[in-house]
Amino acid sequence: MGEQIWRRGNIHTHTTESDGDAEPEKVVEWYRNHGYDFLALTDHNHLTIIEHGSKHRGAEGLLMIPSEELTVRTDHTRIPVHLGGIGITRHIEAVATDDVATTIQANVNSILDAGGIACINHPSWEWAFDHRAILKTHGARLMEICNATLGSNNYPVPLPSKYSPSEIWDQVLTAGVPLFGAATDDSRHYHDFAPHKENPGHGWVMVEAEALDSDAIVEAMAGGKFYSSTGIYLEELKVSPDEVSLKVRQQGDVVVVTQFIGKDGQVFQESVGAGATYRPTGDEGYIRAALRSSDGTQAWTQPVFLK
Ligand SMILES: [Zn+2]
Repeated sequence: MGEQIWRRGNIHTHTTESDGDAEPEKVVEWYRNHGYDFLALTDHNHLTIIEHGSKHRGAEGLLMIPSEELTVRTDHTRIPVHLGGIGITRHIEAVATDDVATTIQANVNSILDAGGIACINHPSWEWAFDHRAILKTHGARLMEICNATLGSNNYPVPLPSKYSPSEIWDQVLTAGVPLFGAATDDSRHYHDFAPHKENPGHGWVMVEAEALDSDAIVEAMAGGKFYSSTGIYLEELKVSPDEVSLKVRQQGDVVVVTQFIGKDGQVFQESVGAGATYRPTGDEGYIRAALRSSDGTQAWTQPVFLK
């Protein structure tokens, strides 16, 4: 078996076509100059297509995946529901009802109709909704488990009804629903780089795909053939119901800790160092690996479901 080929991309990006502060061309240039292979421009309720590069590797060397962030608030209750429509073939009008789950479902359906895959974005932003709503829906393939913008509430807190994205993810997976976890930038600010700005380069996906074209990348993501990262790179990742093993690319003298997590977010094994292997017993429900480094960066692999 040959070496695994990983394609680095960001699937949540804003430009001046919505609330970003740089023109689409400038945003594309930033990502192209920072080691990305593909990019989804996901302006709010707007399909931003940039010249010469809507489908195949264009825009001077960066593959563009036509996308949009369907952005609404529920009627009356005003709860934000944002969905990434990744790989769509046309603009979609976002719709809202007075209920979170039916709003998610209606927009997921529109995304599927338009030939894309749906990503449930930043569920914990404004503590908007959690697994209880998500589990009433079907058809989404991805959810954001780490969104780099302020207010995404990526980390857990010990308060009732306030779930972090990873906690929501584990509850969804525990129910047996295969949603795959994405780390994204949700970037808006491309001029000033500062901690309180929403800058690019903080969260991305590494997709295993032979071909760098839109269909191959979208299909691989839909099938969970990717991992998410905020700075940790994997040299190798093997996932099967018999064994999950990985090897981290060593960066300086940082130490990486890998947790193998299953049903209800339970940690079944913790490994320290560049290589980690877990052999499921079959009672874990599913197994996913969550990595964190002594420099503060993280990575997440996708779940494998067990009998
Ligand atoms: Zn959003």
